[in-house]
Amino acid sequence: AYVVTEPCINCKYTDCVEVCPVDCFYEGPNFLAIQPDECIDCNACVPVCPTEAIYPDDEVPQEWAHYLQWNEYLANQW
Ligand code: SF4
Repeated sequence: AYVVTEPCINCKYTDCVEVCPVDCFYEGPNFLAIQPDECIDCNACVPVCPTEAIYPDDEVPQEWAHYLQWNEYLANQW
């Protein structure tokens, strides 16, 4: 699954939400989270993200590794 990371915080763009074919983005107060069981790894969201916040789960930079759990947790909260 794809993972949203730190540069998304306080980003006001929702281009990723619009291009996602399976509507697996969940929107919180200042962050978007991807529901990992719903993401189909299509890559459509990556090129439209203006802050380059989205990575495949096996390419998430080490300092943002905790976002894997956060995306799942937050997507299920919202
Ligand atoms: Fe949606 Fe595709 Fe991005 Fe997964 S990779 S979040 S399915 S647009």
